[in-house]
Amino acid sequence: MNGTNKALMGTAAGAAAMYCLSSLLLTAADLFGGESAGGVCVSVINIAAIFGAGDWVVQTDFGYLGSLGALYGALPTGAGLSATLFLSVGFMLSAMGFASSPSRDVKGGDTDPREYLFTHRPMALARCLAMPWNSIPLFWGFKKAPVAIPIAMLPFIAPFALIADLALLIAFLILWAIMSLKIGSASKRDRARYDSLTHYAVCPKCKRNFYQPRVKCSCGLVFGYPVPGPHGAKIHTCNNGHSVPATNDLGGRGALSMVCPHCGSGVVTHEAKPLVVSLVGARDSGKTTLMLSSAESLCEAAKSKGVMAEFASPGLSPRAWGAKGRVAPTAPGELDSEFLFLRSRDFPEKEIMFNDISGSEFEPDRDKVLFEEYYKYNDGIIFAIDPASVVAVHSSQSPAKGSKPTPVSVMESFYHMYTEINGYGPSVRSTVPFAVVLTKMDDPRSSAAAAEGAEAFLARHGQGDFVKIARSAFENVRFFKVSSLGDGRNAAEPLAWILSENDEDVKRIF
Ligand SMILES: [Zn+2]
Ligand SMILES: [Zn+2]
Repeated sequence: MNGTNKALMGTAAGAAAMYCLSSLLLTAADLFGGESAGGVCVSVINIAAIFGAGDWVVQTDFGYLGSLGALYGALPTGAGLSATLFLSVGFMLSAMGFASSPSRDVKGGDTDPREYLFTHRPMALARCLAMPWNSIPLFWGFKKAPVAIPIAMLPFIAPFALIADLALLIAFLILWAIMSLKIGSASKRDRARYDSLTHYAVCPKCKRNFYQPRVKCSCGLVFGYPVPGPHGAKIHTCNNGHSVPATNDLGGRGALSMVCPHCGSGVVTHEAKPLVVSLVGARDSGKTTLMLSSAESLCEAAKSKGVMAEFASPGLSPRAWGAKGRVAPTAPGELDSEFLFLRSRDFPEKEIMFNDISGSEFEPDRDKVLFEEYYKYNDGIIFAIDPASVVAVHSSQSPAKGSKPTPVSVMESFYHMYTEINGYGPSVRSTVPFAVVLTKMDDPRSSAAAAEGAEAFLARHGQGDFVKIARSAFENVRFFKVSSLGDGRNAAEPLAWILSENDEDVKRIF
């Protein structure tokens, strides 16, 4: 049980115990003294009156205790010592109920193994009010037979349990109201912050997005994302007693170990806003080199503006940049996304994510694998074209079926998958920024494209339909010519454009 719950339960149980104890003492004083000790012992006596004389007014004739005499042998009416003895045992048995685990237990279940708040657990009020009666299940659980003791003593337990319940009810309602207010305001603030800064997260394995991931405690227990709620306003506690922050006020929650709610793989979110860019293009069109070079340039630009870049996936590390001139062809099939984080004092953290898709997936004769998630959650698409291959295919005498894929054939293949997955009709234009990029401009074989604009170059080399499809499918199309290698590299331009179209903070880096 965490500190908050100890305090909540301690307050409620303490109030009830104090009330019962004072009633016991005053009743005893009354029994011994013969004279009424005043209004404070009203509680026990009044409840006694309900059982006994049926008189609702304050009375001091102990009709209730007197009527118990038949049950407990020679207990003469008003016999101070025996009555006090029985009442004391009743008080102790009632108090013992507070130690019983069924009503103290605040642990969560298997799917969400973290403590509830004492005041906000399922059936919280009923379980709180059951506390003073718990000596019965407690004795039953202990060895079954001794359960006869609290049952036999029930008439003496009942007055205390009932007045304890009265105190518990009042204490519970006050505590519940305080905690509800705390949770309500913390939750509102946390949700507004999360929605404005992060909004959702993306899994680099299954590429699906989700509002919030699940969290893995250091002990291995996995539970729902900690937000202010019935588990606590600021701190949550796993069933093994470990604390996790329930807000990201100090950045602690974003650094927790997280788990994708769809595929269960580990994810890192930092509660950063994700910006997802997918790369499309024929085999050997320079997508991977473009991704590495643009990530490198982005990080350099970020550094000069005092923005820190953190490389969270190995495929985007500075080590990978170093090898960008000789990357192996991207393996076909579904691959993990590559991602990095941008951190600055001036704006909330961002996550830049790349989906590098093998060019072979866009070849017409290939059995199509629908990479649903690659195309569903995109903040931008980079379509890479190797100008030298466009020239080669155009000048070839036999552009027959089965020859090298052209931008048109790749675009058709991509567009078919894209519209099918997103459920777009033929008249729907996507608002996702679409960057058409002539790559390898540093390669002497690309000289044909150097002299004119990218659009004109494509049209002149038989790819006019590509431009048409691109413009009819996407509202926001821009053409680029980039060098990914060498001194004049400008590979970050398409990425910078896409990010700037999506996020004002990143726009300021470029
Ligand atoms: Zn734990
Ligand atoms: Zn996943």
